[in-house]
Amino acid sequence: MNRPELWTAAAAASPLLSYLLGRFSRWGGLAAGAALFAFASFMLAGEISAGAPYAALALWTVAALAHSVILNGGAGASPDRSRLEKKLARALQLESELSLIKTETALNAAGEKKSVAVYSAVKLLSETVEPQSAAKQLGKYLSDYFETEEAVLYMAGNSPGSAEMELFAQGARGPALPSFKEILALAGGFPEQALAVPGLVLAPVSAGSGPLGLIVLRGGTQNAESAGRFAGEISFALKRVMLFRQVEWLSLTDGLTGLWRRNALDEKIREELRRAAAFKTTMGFMIADIDHFKHLNDTYGHQFGDAVLRRVAQLLKEGVYETDFVGRYGGEEFGIVLPRADSAGVLRKAETIRARMEAEVFSQGLEKVRLTVSIGIAHFPRDGRAPEELVARADAALYAAKESGRNRVMDAGSL
Ligand code: GH3
Ligand code: MG
Ligand code: MG
Repeated sequence: MNRPELWTAAAAASPLLSYLLGRFSRWGGLAAGAALFAFASFMLAGEISAGAPYAALALWTVAALAHSVILNGGAGASPDRSRLEKKLARALQLESELSLIKTETALNAAGEKKSVAVYSAVKLLSETVEPQSAAKQLGKYLSDYFETEEAVLYMAGNSPGSAEMELFAQGARGPALPSFKEILALAGGFPEQALAVPGLVLAPVSAGSGPLGLIVLRGGTQNAESAGRFAGEISFALKRVMLFRQVEWLSLTDGLTGLWRRNALDEKIREELRRAAAFKTTMGFMIADIDHFKHLNDTYGHQFGDAVLRRVAQLLKEGVYETDFVGRYGGEEFGIVLPRADSAGVLRKAETIRARMEAEVFSQGLEKVRLTVSIGIAHFPRDGRAPEELVARADAALYAAKESGRNRVMDAGSL
């Protein structure tokens, strides 16, 4: 067993031992390697003194031992440190991945909120049979989508062919925005496409022919592009609502004069009476009937009669406040609701109307015609509290005015 080859191999292998044990303990490995080398050298003592090339082997071994210590850097001295460092690195990596996922989720949620808002808006507009209540909900969706409460949607007017736009829906702070006129002035006219003007974003809504509406926004996350996209998404559903409103409007207004039809005016009377009762205010109601209109029709023809009715309607509307309601109650009979008017005021107003009609010269071609009207007045709460009661009292007063010679005003209070 005492063969020199074996001990030479052991000396040469000692750095390998140092390296393998050093994986568990750097300095322990070095000690084991060095010990093996020393022991092998001891066993080779005879060969060394006989002049074997031991110096080269010793140099190589010392270099290899040092190398094994370097390779096993960190092992043994604090065995858990590298593992901790690895775990820490892994944790940092996971953390950054997590924050990336969080950001993505937040972005998706924002996108999803927008999608839900536009989907809800289109669904609402496509299904509603009550544009007025839909408008309230739509204001909320506008705010959700653009993340601003300063959002409004204007819509083309009810009367077909009208170029006017009216406020349809708005977010909670919509009223803080400039008026439609101011907005048009800022934009230099009705915008052809979505655009930003100082402080505002405007997006026209159109579906086929002509402008249908206008979205106006301030603040939030809006820009012209996203406003334009929203406008495009809702355009056809909004068109449906507009047509719906026009049909409703046409069914409520009289084709010849443009005044409220009888049903619509009756509804106004009910509404205003409820309001007057709730707020303890008053309300006037009058019925004006053209005197001897049948004779005018018979003498000058139905067409002239129609033209006269249109002009009378116009004069009546001009003769009362914008907040009053004028309706065509029958053929040549008109009803007027005057919210919050006191009885003396209604009487004065009726007299002014009567005089105005008497003064008007209705002409068509060479024909010049004058006419008169008789007016009956009733007043809430003096003459009754129920709508039917009030209308019946005004009717009775009108009858009395006709009976006592026409071209006069009669107040139910003095019957
Ligand atoms: P009085 O002074 O008693 O009110 O007499 P009047 O002739 O005005 O009353 P009456 O109720 O007898 O006649 C109303 C007439 O109004 C009958 C009809 O020829 C006319 N009339 C009703 N609707 C229209 C309409 O849409 N166009 C035209 N041209 N005439 C109408
Ligand atoms: Mg008449
Ligand atoms: Mg009549």
